[in-house]
Amino acid sequence: MIRRLLARFVPGLRSDAPRVYGPDKHPVRAGQVSAGARQVTRRLKEAGFKAFIVGGAVRDLMLGIAPKDFDIATDAHPEQVKPLFRRAFVIGRRFRLVHVHAGGDVIEVSTFRAAQGTDATDEHGRLISDNVYGTQAEDAARRDFTVNALYFDPETEEVWDYVGGVPDVRARRMKLIGPPVTRYREDPVRMLRAVRLAAKLGCTIEKKTAEPIPRLADLIGNVPPARLFDEVQKLLLSGHAVETLRSLREHGLHRGLLPMIDVILDQPGGQRFIGVALRHTDERVREDRSVSPAFLFATLLWHEVLGQWAAAKGKGERPLPALFDAMDAVLSQQAQQLAIPRRFEATIKEVWSLQPRFEQRAGQRPFRLLEHPRFRMAYDFLVLRAEAGEAQQPLADWWTRFQEAGDEERAAMLKPDEAPKKRRRSRGRGRKRREDGAPEERSGAPPGDDEPG
Ligand code: ATP
Ligand code: MG
Repeated sequence: MIRRLLARFVPGLRSDAPRVYGPDKHPVRAGQVSAGARQVTRRLKEAGFKAFIVGGAVRDLMLGIAPKDFDIATDAHPEQVKPLFRRAFVIGRRFRLVHVHAGGDVIEVSTFRAAQGTDATDEHGRLISDNVYGTQAEDAARRDFTVNALYFDPETEEVWDYVGGVPDVRARRMKLIGPPVTRYREDPVRMLRAVRLAAKLGCTIEKKTAEPIPRLADLIGNVPPARLFDEVQKLLLSGHAVETLRSLREHGLHRGLLPMIDVILDQPGGQRFIGVALRHTDERVREDRSVSPAFLFATLLWHEVLGQWAAAKGKGERPLPALFDAMDAVLSQQAQQLAIPRRFEATIKEVWSLQPRFEQRAGQRPFRLLEHPRFRMAYDFLVLRAEAGEAQQPLADWWTRFQEAGDEERAAMLKPDEAPKKRRRSRGRGRKRREDGAPEERSGAPPGDDEPG
């Protein structure tokens, strides 16, 4: 209190003193915080430490959005946090955090950290380490946007603001803390976060925060592909993908990030397909239905596969080997920008490689396709292709009906078996066929891969 009073008059102290907003000055209530997170803050405070809900959760609650999760910031060090809880695990090597299991949640508890000087950056100004404990004020200052640097105490229902985040939340304004160029150089992902969060929150990006982005966009190329993948995945699964991609373009950020998408967006057919896919994804996310990242990446890259497939067939390659070559080429090209995890790659390939099998509607083949573990995803993909005008709508309709039909109707739906062709093939000179009679197929999919959705 005294310190805060003093801070009013002593300029040097000012940046260290938060502005504290009581419960009558903001809309966040303790009851909106998960029971687990409340338990953890209470326990830390009982033990004599500071403890606040921090970051995205406070921001979301201030804006009337339900937070995904609750993170806690404290002045306790990990080894002081851990013994306070029955189930707590110290994780991470570079910056150590504690995961506390409480009230059915896993709550991330991190110790206040300070930003480091220029000795912790690489030749592009990128931060290579930020693992120095600090004061709460320093912890606020090292965060990215002012709206992301608010601290909420569930016991007093106070919001502590060191960086002017409350007025920015009220104005729905994304503003970087500190000098924008330096902050983007430290971590170029902040440019993507600005665009993604603005779209998600319905905020504008403040002028000085937006201005350097097009100039610095190329720095995204220095971000490790795996981190970029995480960020792009968040962006595409935010429920606002269409808007976010449009905004990325406006800020000159789409190039270098997803060069292939760039090419695709410029092809009329591809644009339509991806537009349809992204709108579907956004709808599903907003309805809280599951979305498979593999499916999404399969759609984003499909037109590139089609292009390379056509080129290979044009050179006289047989259709299926040509398809597999195209799939491999597209995925390995993309891996240089975004490291798409292996488990997704396998699924993506399955979804693509099943597409030609929808054309086969005679004999036992449709039944075998129905039983394929990836049938549902591949069928959804076919529906999307039809909606975008890239596959025949009657074909998609046929499969929609076939799934729902009874035995008799199914039998009637089957196309006349191309018996003579089949006989010829089975007498042929040892062409390798799968046991189920499906076309020969190279599968890159290891068994047992799966992903949510
Ligand atoms: P989301 O709704 O996507 O989870 P978020 O802001 O909570 O958004 P997280 O990645 O969960 O994003 O990060 C939690 C907090 O950590 C942020 O609110 C911010 O304070 C801080 N933070 C995250 N990324 C950065 C970054 N690149 N630079 C500085 N601070 C960051
Ligand atoms: Mg978060």
